[in-house]
Amino acid sequence: MKFVIDPRLSHLDEAELAALAERYFVGERVGDLVREYRLQCTPNQLYRLIPPRILLDHNCEACGAPLIQVRRAAGALSLGLDATRCSACRHRVNGSCRCDACEAKKRQRVQAEITRQRAEVEAYCRGRWDYREVQHNPEDLSVNTAVALLALVRSGGWLSDTSVGRIDASGIPFAPEGPLGDNLLATLVSSGLVAPALDSPMDAFETTSTSMQVFTDRVHWRILAASPMLLVRQLEQLCKFGEWPDAWDNDIAELQLALAVAECREFADFCLTERGLPAVGHHAAEVLFKNLLTDFAVSQCFRIIWSGAMASVDFIARTGSSRRHASNFFVGACQRWADRARTDGWIIKPGFRNGRRPRSQLSHVLNDVFFGIGERGFNEPLRAFSMNLQHLT
Ligand SMILES: [Zn+2]
Ligand SMILES: [Zn+2]
Repeated sequence: MKFVIDPRLSHLDEAELAALAERYFVGERVGDLVREYRLQCTPNQLYRLIPPRILLDHNCEACGAPLIQVRRAAGALSLGLDATRCSACRHRVNGSCRCDACEAKKRQRVQAEITRQRAEVEAYCRGRWDYREVQHNPEDLSVNTAVALLALVRSGGWLSDTSVGRIDASGIPFAPEGPLGDNLLATLVSSGLVAPALDSPMDAFETTSTSMQVFTDRVHWRILAASPMLLVRQLEQLCKFGEWPDAWDNDIAELQLALAVAECREFADFCLTERGLPAVGHHAAEVLFKNLLTDFAVSQCFRIIWSGAMASVDFIARTGSSRRHASNFFVGACQRWADRARTDGWIIKPGFRNGRRPRSQLSHVLNDVFFGIGERGFNEPLRAFSMNLQHLT
């Protein structure tokens, strides 16, 4: 590294220059140095003239050349802000260095950390799930497992012959908001038919000091059948010809009801929270919507829900009641409307899905693939498709 000697130091020989630099860097009083060396500058200007000090005993860790300490204002020196760097390459000893060698080291450290995290995730997954492939016959699956598998494959899309992608990347939600989607995924995983793929995106896992959290909407899914694509095709064929096992009939009616309730709850939460009102409690919602769905289609329930939410807003404005009261009022208003419609024989017009709460993949699989009825599943009462709904009473 070349250093141009300032003319104001030109009266000093090499040894004097080195001694001046040495004494400056060890922190001697600048005023004394200026006087002693007969320098034509103020003490404040001295730091600009001082040549770098060569640290002969210290070599650059990147290239091996001697390190130098470059001039700094005396104030900065006293704060410990010395600037030590390589005399040959761009490496700096203190603070963040962006020289090629340090950047490469940083990349290596990042890569090593990724490899470590990946190994941790893999060990966790292998300890929690069994990744052996099993021969599955479509008829032996429960209906919830079969429906969940088809919805999962359609949401995530095939990544390979044995795995599908993350369901949050699909424009279509896996299930309506609420616990139904998680419950179905849990059923599917506990059947041993699928497990989070070991090469899932790293953001699907979050490690805390005590445990690891797995985000089921972000993982890739490994399907643990001998021939996953064949299994899915066989399932679709079973549905196409309505030749599914008798044992499925009861369970599929229950799942259809659970989906309808979940759609009503999602829509009610949407209508209420959009108007600044609290969502209805879990139990009250279950009771209300199961009652409504005994006679009305989901689309008609949507009309009742929408009107109930509007009436609740009016109720608050009229009476100055609390928002919590409005939630109770909403349940009562929906129930009264349904009761009047039944006793007076009103025809309730259908409501519509909101674009911000689109139809779920679960609805597509159940109503399009299994029942083959499409949106009639939304627009007609459940009784129309299922003979087995005694539990609704
Ligand atoms: Zn160097
Ligand atoms: Zn460096």
